[in-house]
Amino acid sequence: MDSGAWAVAALVALGLALAVAAVVVVPWRLPGPTRAARAAAFREVPEDVVDRGRALHAALRPSAYSSLFAGLVTPLLLGLTPAGAHIVGWVAQPFGGHWLAQAVLGGLTVLAIVWLVPLPFAAWRHVVLRDWGLSTQSWRGWVADLGRSGAVGLVLGAVLLAGFYTLTHVAPDWWWAWGALGAAALVVLLSFVFPVLVEPVFNRFTPMPAGSLRDELMELAARDGLPVREVLVADASRRTTGLNAYVSGFGATRRIVVYDTLVGKASAGEVGSVVAHELGHARARDPELGTLLGAVGAAAAVVALYLLGQWDALLRRAGVDSIGSPEAIALVLAVAALVGLVTGPLQNVVSRRIEARADRHALRLTGDPATFAAMQLRLASVNTADVRPPRLEYVLFATHPDTVERLAAAREAGAPLGDEEL
Ligand SMILES: [Zn+2]
Repeated sequence: MDSGAWAVAALVALGLALAVAAVVVVPWRLPGPTRAARAAAFREVPEDVVDRGRALHAALRPSAYSSLFAGLVTPLLLGLTPAGAHIVGWVAQPFGGHWLAQAVLGGLTVLAIVWLVPLPFAAWRHVVLRDWGLSTQSWRGWVADLGRSGAVGLVLGAVLLAGFYTLTHVAPDWWWAWGALGAAALVVLLSFVFPVLVEPVFNRFTPMPAGSLRDELMELAARDGLPVREVLVADASRRTTGLNAYVSGFGATRRIVVYDTLVGKASAGEVGSVVAHELGHARARDPELGTLLGAVGAAAAVVALYLLGQWDALLRRAGVDSIGSPEAIALVLAVAALVGLVTGPLQNVVSRRIEARADRHALRLTGDPATFAAMQLRLASVNTADVRPPRLEYVLFATHPDTVERLAAAREAGAPLGDEEL
């Protein structure tokens, strides 16, 4: 069997593994709230919250769709024409067209273009968020954040490009096998490294001072069988008025992180319901699950890319000889953009199921659907959420159930207590 046949076999095996994992570990059987519960939940939401959410999202829509469009069209224009290959060639010219210069400098240039083109739309979004008082970040801070993301991307990109194209250079027929292993390992590594190395680049974390809130959160975690080492407060208010919390780390390093915005605005019970949702993720091992699916998906993507490289017409269109050549980086990004567009809604479906399960966990753990519902209403109001977004936006962008669905889940959890139709 030659390399191509092994690659087909590997892709089939990885695809099956992904399909089995998606069927087995995603909570598909979790019943969603009924239409009647959703209708009743919608009536619970104050009219001004509904209107404000709709108005904000109408204001954000042009920048959201422009950004999506720019993020798709830029790699397509560079990758499905010889433009990307030309750029890589030019950048590497002063280095005699050396493959490593093509890989790192050429690759980073193409990545930078694809990153920069949608930025004006991100700035437009920031204008709207500031006008609405939802972003507290100055333009200086906004640009500083861009600089930080750019620096992280530059380092990570350079390492990835050098690694990947060294592999395609030394193993032109078998890079897909090593690349698939490397991609899977990288996903696992990054999921450990990100919270430790990258989060502190953007936020400062301070231990929550001793007091009743800290005690309540620690007690909640202990009751859930997930003792935590500490509760940290992130200085998110530098950037946003949005409310959030998360649980990160494993075992002895497990910690609860709460946004300072949440501590300032919500009652202790409400903070508890958000933390209980996060504990639900930790209990169900959602971070590990996401890492596993991501690792298998990344490996499959590398193998699929190799096989796509057998399609001569596609290579000719991009003006390259091989998909493993650094000159084909824009073609790779074009393929990734198309695949992302198709698989994004699928990933959102999986994410919404997992979020719904964490909500159920929170409702069970706290046994307090009324406070959970109050927190959902507070989130909708403070974050100016579209409580029931248009179908297309729900499919394209929603990683969580919408507010109405979450309120309906709380109503259904509260139903046995008999306080429903009053
Ligand atoms: Zn969640």
